[in-house]
Amino acid sequence: MTAENTIMINGNTLSFEPGETILDVARKNSIDVPTLCHLKRANPTGVCRICVVEVEGAHKLQASCATPAVAGMVILTESNKVIEARKLIIQLMLSSGNHNCAIRGHAGDDWTAFQLQVQKSDDSDELCPVWGDCQLQDLAYRYQVSSDPMLETQIPYPMETVNPFIVRDFSRCIQCGRCVQACNEVQVNLAIDFGYKSGATKIVAADDKPLKDSDCVFCGECVAVCPVGALVEKDARYKVRPWETQKVRTTCTYCGVGCQIYLHVKDNQVVKVTGVEDALPNHGSLCVKGRFGNDFIHSPERLQTPLIKENGNFREASWDEALDLVANKFSRIKNEYGSDSLGLLTSARITNEENYIAQKFTRATLKTNNVDHCARL
Ligand code: SF4
Ligand code: SF4
Ligand code: SF4
Repeated sequence: MTAENTIMINGNTLSFEPGETILDVARKNSIDVPTLCHLKRANPTGVCRICVVEVEGAHKLQASCATPAVAGMVILTESNKVIEARKLIIQLMLSSGNHNCAIRGHAGDDWTAFQLQVQKSDDSDELCPVWGDCQLQDLAYRYQVSSDPMLETQIPYPMETVNPFIVRDFSRCIQCGRCVQACNEVQVNLAIDFGYKSGATKIVAADDKPLKDSDCVFCGECVAVCPVGALVEKDARYKVRPWETQKVRTTCTYCGVGCQIYLHVKDNQVVKVTGVEDALPNHGSLCVKGRFGNDFIHSPERLQTPLIKENGNFREASWDEALDLVANKFSRIKNEYGSDSLGLLTSARITNEENYIAQKFTRATLKTNNVDHCARL
């Protein structure tokens, strides 16, 4: 380590690589600097300013996510000035809109009136749908901040509930911009951006249309990165709290990419799907099918038994009966017309192991190399 590539954070001398920011160096060394807008795989914006740190000799606090490390810097990440700045930012965020979890700083009748107004907007008598799973709430507890009734503002934009998979609640948006970066820089769908600047900012799709009428492809990346309750999965909203679920890691079955996913399971039912961050091949990203197309799992229309068609109608059968029937038909065709008159189409939606068994059965039992897969099966 040489003085040319070191900085000091909280009294510790730490090395850095060219191009690294103060936040990069801190995180590499397990120094916890909170952020709300910072998004891996996107350019830092420094917009939320929660990650500010004190740099010796600088006139202002610096956003650590957007400030490159420069040799000789002396940095404090939790000085009094830093903590005061973070508290003010958190207080302003909590004071804007419908942040009705327990950190809202109301008392008595005011509290009741506020909750009733939010319940009407939420169409629910429960606290915020992401209560217990919110980074702003975590920070409010960490820095012991609540909202200030004198600073409170109302958000003029109504909740957008018309989309098939996503509810957009502008009253809880802290305008961190993570959704915009996730859509534009990570997924490159270019569906949303900041609109109505100058004090009335709103995250908008083109022409401020609902997502369902825009270029949105409902990949849900924006929901996954939203640190608060402004973007929520429609089907899971108010149906589940994070401590009620078990997370089961598995591989998405929709296609051969093999995205790593967590099934969030409550009472033996899959209630939501999220991507596994920091895991190949998808780094947490998913497509609309992987993230939202899971209702087939518990569909009552799924087949429970084999069906045999007789006289144009299906009847239920046992597995033994169905397998005997198919085996006899395969044998008859093979004996009469030869093995190459048979072929097997497998599916991109089954596992490698199942596809292996299918080709083994085709080659070893049916005695033909006529085996392929169809992406649609
Ligand atoms: S978004 Fe977060 S801070 Fe706001 S009400 Fe919900 S849990 Fe509380
Ligand atoms: S769901 Fe995907 S495409 Fe739609 S706004 Fe969110 S990130 Fe963009
Ligand atoms: S919707 Fe969520 S991610 Fe997007 S700006 Fe608002 S708070 Fe941030």
